[in-house]
Amino acid sequence: MQKKKHAVGQVVQAFGNLLHVRFEGNIRQGEMARVRVGDESLLAEVIEIAGNEAKLQVFEDTRGIKLHTPVEFNGHLLEAELGPGLLSSIFDGLQNPLEDVAKETGVYLQRGVYMPPLDRARLWGFTPTAKVGDVLSRGDSIGFVLEGRFEHKIMLPFSHFGKVKLNYLVKEGSYNLDHVLASGEDEKGQLIEIKMLQRWPVKNALIEGKKVRASRMMDTGLRILDTQFPILKGGTFCSPGPFGAGKTVMQHHLSKYSAVDIVVIVACGERAGEVVEVLQTFPELIDPHSHESLMKRTVMICNTSSMPVAAREASVYMGAAIAEYYRQMGLDVLLLADSTSRWAQAMREMSGRLEEIPGEEAFPAYLSSRISSFYERAGVVELKDQRMGSLTIGGSVSPAGGNFEEPVTQASLAIVGAFHGLSRARSDARRYPAIDPLISWTKYLNEAGRELNHRLPHWADRVRQAATFLRKGDEIGKRMEVVGEEGVALDDMVVYLKSELYEFCYLQQNAFDKEDAYCPLDRQVKLFTLILKIFDGQFSFDTHDEARSFFLNLQNDMKNMNFLPYESHLYKEVYAEVERKLSSRIKA
Ligand code: ADP
Ligand code: MG
Repeated sequence: MQKKKHAVGQVVQAFGNLLHVRFEGNIRQGEMARVRVGDESLLAEVIEIAGNEAKLQVFEDTRGIKLHTPVEFNGHLLEAELGPGLLSSIFDGLQNPLEDVAKETGVYLQRGVYMPPLDRARLWGFTPTAKVGDVLSRGDSIGFVLEGRFEHKIMLPFSHFGKVKLNYLVKEGSYNLDHVLASGEDEKGQLIEIKMLQRWPVKNALIEGKKVRASRMMDTGLRILDTQFPILKGGTFCSPGPFGAGKTVMQHHLSKYSAVDIVVIVACGERAGEVVEVLQTFPELIDPHSHESLMKRTVMICNTSSMPVAAREASVYMGAAIAEYYRQMGLDVLLLADSTSRWAQAMREMSGRLEEIPGEEAFPAYLSSRISSFYERAGVVELKDQRMGSLTIGGSVSPAGGNFEEPVTQASLAIVGAFHGLSRARSDARRYPAIDPLISWTKYLNEAGRELNHRLPHWADRVRQAATFLRKGDEIGKRMEVVGEEGVALDDMVVYLKSELYEFCYLQQNAFDKEDAYCPLDRQVKLFTLILKIFDGQFSFDTHDEARSFFLNLQNDMKNMNFLPYESHLYKEVYAEVERKLSSRIKA
């Protein structure tokens, strides 16, 4: 087959990273191109076509681009390379392997340097599971290689939609990514080759199979999330909050402790140092579920604020495509994007250059549809052999001044299944995680409850009861600020004290304490049982002072309990002590 000739063109106008290019040949929306500046070649993407002129956004610093600078289109959309070796990798938004690039060009990434995302030379032990004569369709696997502890399925390319009858398949053995492992004929009699490596255009959702309702909980080890505002595997959530409220700390927590197989982190950092920190700390961390290095289940896409904005936009899609690819293997995948506001800003910048009619706060009118289609890539997929794969997506949002009435937060709120709103007041008071339980919500509580009912009956109702205590406590607390402690009825004061105890001993959690940072579900249920005993209890106090000192004492014990190893003798002792104190005070 003769190779199709690609279009070529030249720059007629440049405005920041937006180029007007006159071209000959055929190009399409989203097509990638290379802009030749001296011996450097900068990647760009077609964003608008009119006649024989196109507008392109360049993913790099555009220094040196002039009138008549040559442009070569390559016929492909922005694609991800998919195959074994993605895990443990660190890429930029265009899937450059950052470690390899740094080896080539030093710590300061040089523009125009692109390297293959996956190692071509590396050999992987392949075990075939299909056989010659099998008729395969999209996403079916021909075998697998072991990538760490995962069976990485080698699947019929997702870019091929028809059926393929296998007429060749290699034997078990070691092969590299480009080796033809199998081939066959499609329905039109054309030859289809299957390698470990395949490509997928990142802006399109990669999915094969039936989307089904999410129903399994994704526990995170954060009490305020798992108990009060749970997330489901295949669900979506967002956490908006002002600068410094703890969004990044929370996302790091989720990436470390969430009960999923694979985590894809898209870091569109606000601070360059943050990304470096992740790169340094992650390889040393141990996954509490598999007891292996966390890096082995992680893919990172890093953009710092010093990288061009267009690459940031790409990184969100790059992360989504890689995450979806692993979902097709029947794995539970979590995609985290921090912060989606940086991504939205990239859209705004580009839209401004294109002179599009601006919407609210100068964001483009399509902002909310882009945000929805991103979150819609989440979900549970039922695969052929009734296996399930899931992709959960969580994004942080950093609205200026912490004002949630802005377009990115609002668009995210309209689509996600759980909202964890961080508040400045809470982080200032060092009440971490600074999620405000009075404004946060989840649509997943009933499903999570179904999973937890056998451990604690009527789970969802009990959690709602806890939320009611928080609301009442807040209201009474506000009254007390005005009229003083003695100004409210003793019974009201007790409700307030109960809600404070719930806050301090349950909802708050120290991300930097060895024991407290990660609280497994068992441990949460055990502690929540104690909390419910307190909520339900009718206490006998004679004075406000007496009530206060009793609760303060209880709070101390329970707070300390969180820092003790769950299996320790001491934990059991303190737990028993708290129970004893309660029964001595609760009216029978
Ligand atoms: P954001 O991403 O919202 O700007 P960060 O996540 O970077 O904020 O948090 C800023 C600082 O707040 C952290 O460096 C840390 O000192 C503190 N912090 C945030 N979350 C916690 C937590 N759960 N426990 C203790 N300290 C926290
Ligand atoms: Mg941050």
